[in-house]
Amino acid sequence: MVQESTPHTLDIEAIRQDFPILAREVYGRPLVYLDNAATTQKPQCVIGAISEEYRNANANVHRGIHYLSRQATDLHEAARDAVRRFVGAASRAEIVFTRGTTESLNLMATSYGEAFLREGDEVVLTQMEHHSNIVPWQLLRQRRGIKLKVVPVTDSGALDMAAAERLMTPRTRLVSVCHVSNVLGTVNPIRKLAAMAHARGAHLLVDAAQSVPHQSVDVRKLDCDFLAFSGHKVYGPTGIGVLWGREDLLEKMPPYQGGGEMISRVTFERTTYERLPYKFEAGTPDYVGSHALASALAYIDRIGWERIAAHEADLTRYASERLAAIPGLRIYGTEADKGAVVSFNIEGIHAMDLGTLLDRLGIAIRTGHHCAQPLLDRYETESMARASFALYNTRAEIDALAEGLERVRKMF
Ligand code: PMP
Repeated sequence: MVQESTPHTLDIEAIRQDFPILAREVYGRPLVYLDNAATTQKPQCVIGAISEEYRNANANVHRGIHYLSRQATDLHEAARDAVRRFVGAASRAEIVFTRGTTESLNLMATSYGEAFLREGDEVVLTQMEHHSNIVPWQLLRQRRGIKLKVVPVTDSGALDMAAAERLMTPRTRLVSVCHVSNVLGTVNPIRKLAAMAHARGAHLLVDAAQSVPHQSVDVRKLDCDFLAFSGHKVYGPTGIGVLWGREDLLEKMPPYQGGGEMISRVTFERTTYERLPYKFEAGTPDYVGSHALASALAYIDRIGWERIAAHEADLTRYASERLAAIPGLRIYGTEADKGAVVSFNIEGIHAMDLGTLLDRLGIAIRTGHHCAQPLLDRYETESMARASFALYNTRAEIDALAEGLERVRKMF
């Protein structure tokens, strides 16, 4: 076992105590949870926020004049303010609660598509997008006849920026790109892409599902026009996510779904819509989820991004070194600016077998196509193994992974 060498002051043992699930065993072994890019575990404050609200403050929001409804509404709207501060948005009108990144991107394809995209207009994506940032645009292509263009990825996992420059034309209306790849870990140069898009009068949408959990994300600094993320990847609950958009653009976009909450006045002849952000929030929102998400964001705030980022960078570096030393192991994504993800294959062993055998050792990693089949095609593989880290992971867990991989390798 390698001692924790900490270039920072994160008290990992204390942090681990905040996450009850980390104390459990699987197959009689301590859980080593390295599937954080799929979803993170939840601290006690988030679990507590959910049960507290159901115990003490549960009532449907916005419509009620009674005490509990006002209390639940206050918690929900305070959560919106917390998210606004968290992403550096100018106004709470710009924070739309959704079910997650996927719904935020579908909202964009439908509603931005309706307002801004005509036949022949171009949407630029990249080869490293998650299916959530591909399929909604393909559905729109079928409806609208838009064109999709794809920025290629280099061998080391960077965007080919010269190609991006060429692919963006005066017909480009939107560039939609992940901030951090869920497979390669590459941190994309969002400000440069924003400048390229804006120079052509296009907008930039950022899929921040894999960046928001690991670094401070400020929409003004990124200079993007829209940004999407999921609560469950940032220590919050499932079922809640966010779409941030520039107010002037959201104003021009039609509602995504119809129903309660999003209307101002309904008659059978004509309906007028609520102001932002409610225009995009049809139906009872996940007000318990928003409150619990706010408590996750407050938890991160208490620890501080600097310490989280330093710890995760240390883990990623350490994991890359340990795994690269295993004979026959290939790491996908070797850019210097890289998030807390290491994807790999070992020659002669299927990733599924790796994942299954590690699981028996109590080590949870993800295997498969990671919802990024075009990217896996680019690397001529159908499957990869992926270890991904969070603030509560340790070097000792990476040792367990490396030792587990060595054991599996010797079995083949
Ligand atoms: N984009 C990226 C980059 C992701 O990693 C994920 C989740 N794996 C998503 C989008 C979709 O997120 P969700 O399933 O929470 O909607």
